[in-house]
Amino acid sequence: MSSTHREDHLAALAAGVDVLVVGGGITGAGVALDAATRGYRVGLVEQADFASGTSSRSTKLIHGGLRYLARAELRLVAEALRERGRLLRLAPHLVRPQPFVLPLYGGLARPLGVAVAPPLHRWAPAGVRAILWGYDLLARGGGLRHRRLTPAQAAACVPALRTEELREAFVLYDAAADDVRLTHAVLATARRFGAVTVNYARATGLIVEGGRVAGAEVEDRVGGRRVVVRARHVVNAAGVWAEKVAALEGTPPFRLRPSKGVHLVLRREVLGPPPVAGDAREPRPWAHSPRDGETALILPETEDGRIAFLVPWAGRVLLGTTDDPYSGPLDRPTVSSSDAAYLLRHARRYLRRVEPQDVVGAFAGLRPLVEADRDRAADLSREHAVVESPRGLVSAIGGKLTTYRQMAEDAVDRLARRDGAGPCRTRSLPLAGAEGLTRAEQVLAASPLPEQQRRHLLRSYGSASTQILALAASEPSLLRPLADDVPVLAGEVVYACRQEMAVALADVMFLRTRLSVLAEDGGRSAVDQVTALMAAELGWSPGEVRRQLERWEAEVDEQRQVLEGLR
Ligand code: FAD
Repeated sequence: MSSTHREDHLAALAAGVDVLVVGGGITGAGVALDAATRGYRVGLVEQADFASGTSSRSTKLIHGGLRYLARAELRLVAEALRERGRLLRLAPHLVRPQPFVLPLYGGLARPLGVAVAPPLHRWAPAGVRAILWGYDLLARGGGLRHRRLTPAQAAACVPALRTEELREAFVLYDAAADDVRLTHAVLATARRFGAVTVNYARATGLIVEGGRVAGAEVEDRVGGRRVVVRARHVVNAAGVWAEKVAALEGTPPFRLRPSKGVHLVLRREVLGPPPVAGDAREPRPWAHSPRDGETALILPETEDGRIAFLVPWAGRVLLGTTDDPYSGPLDRPTVSSSDAAYLLRHARRYLRRVEPQDVVGAFAGLRPLVEADRDRAADLSREHAVVESPRGLVSAIGGKLTTYRQMAEDAVDRLARRDGAGPCRTRSLPLAGAEGLTRAEQVLAASPLPEQQRRHLLRSYGSASTQILALAASEPSLLRPLADDVPVLAGEVVYACRQEMAVALADVMFLRTRLSVLAEDGGRSAVDQVTALMAAELGWSPGEVRRQLERWEAEVDEQRQVLEGLR
């Protein structure tokens, strides 16, 4: 986005809106979309980059949560599975069916987090089967039913799986989506309905008039201006920061208990050689479509009675997660060496070989859990809440990536009850990029791009991939990959600046392209090219280039220290 566009957007906010959303993660994006489709004039302000908070740090599963079913949280699981079904339909380019292998070993004391004392542990597999049937039942079909596998079949799906004491296994389906791309798709859809969304714009104060919240003071962190945004309704969708935002107008009517979750990004090889699609020896013994992700693995038991996942992601494997109460600074949760050691220890329990050298990246995120009486973060519910303050600030808190749409619907229903706006329209509204997918596939097939890059573009942008191809029509170098081991194209950087408001190098390296998380060298070999592309798009001076590089280097160094601590 050029600076002129940014000025225009800030001017539109200053002219006043019906609904002002504070927070540009998945929840805020969902609220902006829901409100815009009901006819409200919507503004959204995000203090840093879009999805830079928890919404870029998830396990990227669109799931009901087997573990929550094991804890009998039926309402949460049923709601999440219903939303999973919707997202598979409404964003088929982004949300794909994800097969998982769940291995069951002799001697597991707490498979899926359910404690089974001897002698009952002999029946643990039957208990797990009951949970899987329940999961299928709550999902109401949808072709995603679980199946039983022999140990040999399970090992064929995940060749590096340990098979000593492996009694039986199951394959089950959930779904997965890149969280940052999903947030951008929701924001782009909201913009189509007129929403004005601005990043690097922080709400620093709430305006109260006649005893009601009537807007916010916003600091433009790029231009250094202050903008007063008047609004009939203000929705606080600030994730783990929501308590701070609510405190801008009084005592917050809720308490959050942040919980830290860490992921390691591993080389793909830790799962063994990938199956070759279409090969007669293809080991997956169930019907599947080319849309499916590669098989993931559920680690059925952790030391602290949870489960963990190994999920193929962007040519790597995501290993996560931890789940610990957190009271440090909200802006930069860090990965400690004990977090990383915990995850590697568990991966080694189920995989033949995982070395510290297999770790290429690491990140930590904070779950915005709503306070309950129980002590352990892992036991707090992932249900969401919509809470209204006496002065009318509506806070949408808690929840999951999976249930963002429902959460947004519930929040905007509150506003609609105040002024009679129409009913929710997002239950059947396709997200940006979902329209014209077949045509986009044909256009990409006719391009010089190799299969891996075509798939990457389609899964990231859907039909908007053709816009990236169009950029390359006048500048063919934009079709070049930025790194050897990550399928990101130069054109994506230009697209991020022009269409998705990228303003900072570190954001493009860590969030928009994920080069600094996925590439073996932390994106070092690509950073000069990315900087040159952004400087040309955004008109950076040499001093600005230096500042941008310094910020990126500080972040990449932090990650390098974590990785070196492991070795
Ligand atoms: P955020 O994404 O944090 O967004 C809040 C935004 O508000 C931030 O971008 C912040 O910068 C902005 N903000 C704060 N203060 C201000 C201000 N004053 N002015 C302007 N902007 C402000 N869910 C799933 O469904 N599936 C999973 O696999 C999954 N895995 C997870 C794994 C981990 C480790 C964690 C931590 C969470 C996981 N979740 C998962 C949960 C899910 O990621 C979160 O529920 C979701 O991303 C929260 O989104 P949000 O928009 O509410 O918060």
